Amino acid sequence: MTEIKAITSGKSGNDRDAALEDLFSKMPEEAEVDIRLPSKGKFYTGLKPITIAPLTYEEEERILRSKSSGANSIDLLLAKCISGVEISDLLQMDKLYLLMKVREVSYGAEYKFSIACPHCATDVSTEINLDTGLNIKEVEDDLEDPRTLKLPKLGVDAVVRFPRSSEEPFHADNETMIKNLYKFVKSLDGNEDTVFINKALKRLHIMDVKSLVKEVFRGEYGVDPRFMFDCPHCKESSMMAVPLDIDFFSVS
Ligand SMILES: [Zn+2]
Repeated sequence: MTEIKAITSGKSGNDRDAALEDLFSKMPEEAEVDIRLPSKGKFYTGLKPITIAPLTYEEEERILRSKSSGANSIDLLLAKCISGVEISDLLQMDKLYLLMKVREVSYGAEYKFSIACPHCATDVSTEINLDTGLNIKEVEDDLEDPRTLKLPKLGVDAVVRFPRSSEEPFHADNETMIKNLYKFVKSLDGNEDTVFINKALKRLHIMDVKSLVKEVFRGEYGVDPRFMFDCPHCKESSMMAVPLDIDFFSVS
């Protein structure tokens, strides 16, 4: 009868764990990159210094798998890598900025991607330095949340606030956003009744609705994804945008 020998490494499990700990203690677990949020952290309570840990291969795999199952991969990824702020509280401007920083800390600042030239339709491989190649617009020191605007047509004051990350489903597309706009309007002409606000919004002049939407989202803040692309094929320049989404992570 053949005796089956137990294969041992000659080291106890404890020794091995210690050796693994030792190996990875040489690499800083959290790359403490200097994070200055586009919002300057003005609109958060209990904000701690923000640190970003690089994404590990195992985490990336798991997140990309969850992408196909429809889970919110960006939130999962940020929750894994960011500490110091609640992901559900994030403002859109800070969220995209942090996503870009996670990409940078995990894979470096050089981001290579393919782009179709709008002039000659040639697919061109290009790259951008995420740290230096994009403009970041920070909020002004006197920007408030909530804040007041005067509706240009109706002539009354409205008080609006920024949506938080957890409220993204309320503005996933244009139709949904218009339907849920009242959630981000705290008062209209001094009236805070949400039913009143919702009914009033439906009767507003289109110019007033557009002013409200603009003030709620203030899309000018944060990472500006636009950059000038010089086509090596036809030599034309065009304004292009880097995709600031989960596709950042599937190209590694
Ligand atoms: Zn071209």
